[in-house]
Amino acid sequence: MLYEGFMAGGVAAGGQLTTTTDVENYPGFPTGVGGIELTELYRQQSINCGTRIETLTVDRADLNERPFTVFAVDQSVRARTLIVATGATAKRLDVPGADRLWQKGISACAVCDGALPVFRDKPLMVIGGGDTACEESLFLTRYGSSVTMLVRRDVLRASKTMQQRVLTNDKIRIAWQTELVEVLGEQLVGGLRVRDNASGREREIEAGGLFFAIGHQPNTAFLDGQLDTDDNGYVLTAADSTATNVPGVFACGDVQDKVYRQAVTAAGTGCMAALEAERFLDRHG
Ligand code: NDP
Repeated sequence: MLYEGFMAGGVAAGGQLTTTTDVENYPGFPTGVGGIELTELYRQQSINCGTRIETLTVDRADLNERPFTVFAVDQSVRARTLIVATGATAKRLDVPGADRLWQKGISACAVCDGALPVFRDKPLMVIGGGDTACEESLFLTRYGSSVTMLVRRDVLRASKTMQQRVLTNDKIRIAWQTELVEVLGEQLVGGLRVRDNASGREREIEAGGLFFAIGHQPNTAFLDGQLDTDDNGYVLTAADSTATNVPGVFACGDVQDKVYRQAVTAAGTGCMAALEAERFLDRHG
């Protein structure tokens, strides 16, 4: 039985893939596949395999004893095993223009969207100073005319190695102590209004694309701390496994992966979780 969620965290059932356009790196689709189309194919395949799907968001789960109890709106079910695949939500900045131009030159995933024609040979802006922002900026140098990182402080949070790679890349510029105030543009992103945090002065800069890389929020609130997580809230799993600290509960995909975050890696750990859940049931009934 699959609870696919109903606009959980403001995102349609299918999760983050439904917020992206073309997925270029999923095997089996040599010319790419639409994010929504891919989730529809997953859904149909689950149904073909006998999955019952409920379009409800799980509000809470009781993992104290097996069978576990899962609560969704006005129903509850008991489960002998549970796979948590609730993903993570990319954080966005709520500034004027950001909602209106979302997916019209604004993205929260450079690896998913960076290769789209709309970003080709344009000055691209990345917000954030962590490992993700550095990684995405490096990736975007293949497509943009230039890449500028808008960093709100005067230091990067990223690892030293990643910092080094960014600081020595000719195509990447860092705008230190700079925060986004407004996204400008009619049909597509055309520029940004930014504030210099040192002087408080605002200015407009030209931009053909904007990427939020200010972190992700793993979707674990419904678990209410019952599973062990790392400092960023990602569910911890055993080495080479999707097993969590609660026997019979497995976690896969972006809710436990802060490094790769791709549809194909999520599908891979999803397969691991299904096999491990099946083996768990064989052993424990
Ligand atoms: P982080 O939380 O590490 O970094 C977020 C960045 O965004 C920080 O620079 C932060 O600034 C900035 N930020 C946050 N909120 C705002 C805001 N409102 N306005 C402007 N800037 C903002 O997130 P990451 O996604 O980069 O990384 C998460 C974890 O995943 C880390 O542990 C990281 O090491 C790991 N990771 C590892 C990778 C790898 O090993 N290849 C790749 C990607 C991630 P400030 O510093 O001022 O708080």
